[in-house]
Amino acid sequence: GEALAVSARVAPLGSRLVLLLVEDLTDARRIEAVRRDFVANVSHELKTPVGALSLLSEAVMDASDEPDAVQRFAGRMQIEATRLTNLVQELIDLSRVQNDDPLEDAEPVRVEELVAEAVDRCRHQAGTKQIVMATAIQDPPGAVRAGLHVWGNRGQLAAALGNLVENAVNYSPAHTRVGISARRISAPGGELIELAVTDQGIGISDKDKERIFERFYRVDPARSRATGGTGLGLAIVKHVVASHGGEVSVWSAEGQGSTFTLRLPEAGVARDRAARHPGLD
Ligand code: ADP
Repeated sequence: GEALAVSARVAPLGSRLVLLLVEDLTDARRIEAVRRDFVANVSHELKTPVGALSLLSEAVMDASDEPDAVQRFAGRMQIEATRLTNLVQELIDLSRVQNDDPLEDAEPVRVEELVAEAVDRCRHQAGTKQIVMATAIQDPPGAVRAGLHVWGNRGQLAAALGNLVENAVNYSPAHTRVGISARRISAPGGELIELAVTDQGIGISDKDKERIFERFYRVDPARSRATGGTGLGLAIVKHVVASHGGEVSVWSAEGQGSTFTLRLPEAGVARDRAARHPGLD
C-alpha cells in the first residue's frame, strides 16, 4: 500500500522530469542545428570570394603580357578582397556583440554623435547616388546636459545605427532621401530614446520582414552582394538592441520604402546628476 502511494506521489514528478529532459534534448538539438547551419553558411560565404580570388590570380598570370587585362583583373581582385574583409569584420562584430556584455562599459552616449558617425560612414556611398541624408534630433528642454543620451556601449550602438543607415542607402535608388531622427519618448519602464531611419527605397515584403534579422538572410542575395552586403548587419543590430534592453521594429511598404526604429533606454543623465548633486535640478 505504501509503495503504491509513494509511486503515485513520485509519478507526476517523474513524468515532468522526463518531459523536461526531452525538452532539454530538443533544445540542445535545435542549438546544435543552428550552429551547424551557421558554420555551413560562413564556409559558403567565405568560399565565394576566395574562389573568385583564386581564379582571378590565375587569370592575371595568364595575361601577364596584356597590361589592360591585368589591370582589369587586379581591380576585380580588389573588390573580392574588400568583400572578404567586410565579411570577416562583420563576423568579428557579430561574435563580439553575442559574447561581450555591452553594459560592462556602458556610459551615456550622445545621440548626436551616434547619428553624425553613422552619416559619416555612409557619406561617400550616399554622395555617389545623390541621396540626401537629413537628420532631426530633438533637443528636449530642461535637460541638464544638452542633447539626448542613450545608455550603453558606444561602439556597439554606433555599429547598430551605422548598419541601419548603410542599409537605407544601399537599398534605395538614386535621388532619394534618407531620414534619421531621434526623440525621447515615455514608456512605463522609464524614458526611452527612439531612433528612426527612414528611406524611400525598394521596401521589404511582409514575408521577408520576419526573416531579415536572421544571420545571412537576404531578400535578394545578388543585390546584397553587389552592394558589399554580408547578410549579418541586421543580426548585429538585433543583438545589440536586445542586450541593451531595447527593441527594434520595422515598417515597410514594397516600392515605397522602409523605416527601422530602435528604442533604447535613455541615459538618466538628469536624474543621475540630480541624485549626486541634490538641488541641481
Ligand atoms: P545585408 O548585408 O545583405 O544588407 P542585412 O542583415 O543588413 O544584410 O539585411 C538583410 C536583408 O534585409 C538585406 O539583404 C536586404 O534584402 C534587406 N534589407 C535590409 N535593410 C533594408 C532596407 N532599408 N530596405 C530594403 N531592404 C532592406
